[in-house]
Amino acid sequence: MVSRVIPVQPFDLVVFGGTGDLARRKILPALFRRYCAGQMGDAARVIGAARAEMDDTAYRDFVRGAITEFGADTACAPDQLEAFLGQIGYVTLDAQGAQGWDALKARLGDADRIRAFYFSVGPGLFADLAARIETHGLAGPDTRVVVEKPFGRDLASARSLNADLAKHFDETQIYRIDHYLGKETVQNLMAIRFGNMLFEPLWNSQYVDHIQITVAESGGVGSRGDYYDKAGAMRDMMQNHIMQLLCLTAMEPPAKYDPHAVRDEKLKVIRALGPVEPGDVVRGQYEGTDSLPGYLEEVGDDSSRTESFVALKARIGNWRWAGTPFYLRTGKRLRARASEIAVVFKDAPHSIFGADAGRHRNILTIRLQPNEGIEMGVTIKEPGPGGMRLVDVPLDMTFSEALGPEAGDIPDAYERLIMDVIRGDQTLFMRGDEVEAAWEWTDPIIEAWDAPGAEPCPYATGSSGPDDALALMHRDGRRWREIRI
Ligand code: NAP
Repeated sequence: MVSRVIPVQPFDLVVFGGTGDLARRKILPALFRRYCAGQMGDAARVIGAARAEMDDTAYRDFVRGAITEFGADTACAPDQLEAFLGQIGYVTLDAQGAQGWDALKARLGDADRIRAFYFSVGPGLFADLAARIETHGLAGPDTRVVVEKPFGRDLASARSLNADLAKHFDETQIYRIDHYLGKETVQNLMAIRFGNMLFEPLWNSQYVDHIQITVAESGGVGSRGDYYDKAGAMRDMMQNHIMQLLCLTAMEPPAKYDPHAVRDEKLKVIRALGPVEPGDVVRGQYEGTDSLPGYLEEVGDDSSRTESFVALKARIGNWRWAGTPFYLRTGKRLRARASEIAVVFKDAPHSIFGADAGRHRNILTIRLQPNEGIEMGVTIKEPGPGGMRLVDVPLDMTFSEALGPEAGDIPDAYERLIMDVIRGDQTLFMRGDEVEAAWEWTDPIIEAWDAPGAEPCPYATGSSGPDDALALMHRDGRRWREIRI
């Protein structure tokens, strides 16, 4: 199956922080891949901007290096890279000073075309950038700004960032990235739910026993220790990525697939989340091994109480989900790098096969990584003579197998999202009120951890997290699915 690529309109994309880690690893390779796919077009221009002194040639060398390192898997011809680099420029610019803004204005000129500003810098610079874009007359009706996570560290800071952006841009111009929403499987969650008759009638507390969402990483904090120790798993993963997965899993069918309808429904889910009881949340810190440092050693602070793992039981107080808990967990240095949403259905109301047949449950698993795909666990008869023995088998739809080799080359989330920015489609971006509502739910959980004695539980590297997290489900007569590749 060959996927259709519709070229976007000509655009100018200014990447503030164009020399940074995110630009190097994600944004620039994503643009190159879209160029190779024929979507970016020959008239598009990309302008990197940062304080480092560089000319266009030096920046193109930088971009070439980034693509060689992080975009080399693309099916591009070698001459495409040189042509792509011809569309790249650079401006030395200070977000907090006067330097470079006139040069950027001159570069952009008066062309009447889509103009996107990607804020790939720390959130401390968002307000400065937004103000200077306006002061220098760089914004017009076809202007969009893209802002990166973290969007605040609590409700107050998120409100303040929203207010800073709202002084200069309309909400319809602001694209808050959560790259999880750009993942193909996450969008497929909506396709499965709302494109099939099969699932939606069962998608409620009458038929669903519980839902588990796991985002497990096998690596530790590594070189991101400084950032991570100020954030922790709750801020880094739960408040944004897992919250988005929860919303798409739990929301009501929007009237149509458009930014307002989808985001309205997600917001209703967040607002329906009940407060999390202190006994329903477990946080942990990984221990070291003979060859790997533990969390405290890695961040270089023996007294850190920041969590590298969090598991909790969430309840959604609405008609659809009352009585069906959502168990959420995320952590580092776990058994495997594996993320999934598992919808665990209830037992059949009566077994005609008797107690010997055992307990069988349907589980619909939406795998985000690795091997993006969907698996439906169904119960069938074990083949062979000798009575009715039941066995659970997966109906497995790994996208790359089901849709052919073309579909195996699934675009990276950033490719999809950047093109959506250019197209002006905000459906997969978080709205300001959504982000604030998510912080409103998260803040009390984090604040409770400030209490004396509320220490994170240690857990072994390569495990499934602290024992208390296992107990969180055991006491409800349930268990976590195994974390496996
Ligand atoms: P980074 O590697 O530290 O890069 C920061 C960039 O901002 C550099 O290009 C830097 O260049 C530029 N910069 C700093 N101060 C500036 C100023 N006053 N004026 C103009 N440019 C300035 O950071 P990053 O990892 O790329 O992260 C960028 C943003 O993305 C952050 O908000 C981060 O939280 C978010 N993010 C990053 C990742 C990731 O994987 N890296 C993932 C998700 C989200 P100069 O010093 O030369 O000015």
